[in-house]
Amino acid sequence: MSDGFDGGRPARVSRMKATPSEPWLSVHAVAEYTFCPRAGLLAYENKRADPDDTPPAFDTLPRFEIQAIEAELARNYQRLMRWLWSVLVIAASSPIAVYLRQYWYLVLAGVALVYLTHQSLSVLMVLQELLRRRKTLLDGRCEEPDPYSEIMQPTNWFGLLNLGFESRDVKDALRDNDWNLEGKPWRILQKGSLCIPVFRTRSSQEAPREPQIVKIMAYCRLSSVVFGSECPYGIILTGEDYSGFVVPNCERFRTDFHNSLVSLRHLAQAAEHRNESTVTYDSRKCSRCPLGQPRSALLGQRIVRFGAPLPPFKNDDGQHSDCGDRFEWEPPYRQSFGQDN
Ligand code: SF4
Repeated sequence: MSDGFDGGRPARVSRMKATPSEPWLSVHAVAEYTFCPRAGLLAYENKRADPDDTPPAFDTLPRFEIQAIEAELARNYQRLMRWLWSVLVIAASSPIAVYLRQYWYLVLAGVALVYLTHQSLSVLMVLQELLRRRKTLLDGRCEEPDPYSEIMQPTNWFGLLNLGFESRDVKDALRDNDWNLEGKPWRILQKGSLCIPVFRTRSSQEAPREPQIVKIMAYCRLSSVVFGSECPYGIILTGEDYSGFVVPNCERFRTDFHNSLVSLRHLAQAAEHRNESTVTYDSRKCSRCPLGQPRSALLGQRIVRFGAPLPPFKNDDGQHSDCGDRFEWEPPYRQSFGQDN
């Protein structure tokens, strides 16, 4: 009997099914658990947002959907026309002011022209950027992902849009009431009966890492449950050019997700009853883990447990780390980092 679902169809019984009293887990915490059980527990207890979810605060112009770019282009063309008409009216009325010796009007007209020119140039720069983005989007090409393949395939966001996939923003977290799992993919791509979750990573890489595969499998589960559509694969975008990988939603890739979900649920329950035994870890992963990175205890940032901040577990230099505070130890962050380099 399968313990998952096949091609988006939920299985009849699964070990991932949760009772209402069992904890809700985020996709981020489950993915973190795959990297390190301690990281998973920290993400669960602190309800931290997924860093991949955080969009850049600057740049409010659309980039990812052609309809949004076209709408913004139209809006800015209208703005430009308004500014140019104003310039024309002021320029045309100035000779009349000279004729009537109304020199105060010329002073006001000069100030207005400077302002309008500045505004027009700003709009022109926005238009230039939007046209560049539209060209990038329209030039994007990739193969249509094979929904029956069980190997990863390369892909490209803009190519997928040009193949007819429609991008849908996800406002609220998707929730699976059977598995007590929730999470919010970056976008959902829809085409026919397909409903494909997508998330972006911050760094370019040659292949997805294990926690990222777990994360996209979790989003496939949520998408198929919430939207009731076929979800034969998920997409991980990496790097600046919005290329990435199609990850098949097959048993081979789902197993780690299922294992992490069940294990983290047990660990979270044990931790809530204060009877978790030693939480395992692999010290080789600590060398660059941000949760083990020491920082000054004076900075005042604290992780929480049972809703209250934990006291810092300081080393001899008066520094502490999130993982160190929670598990009362000193992760080998600096030592390993130095050896690796
Ligand atoms: S510092 Fe080490 S033990 Fe702690 S969360 Fe990171 S990898 Fe795991």
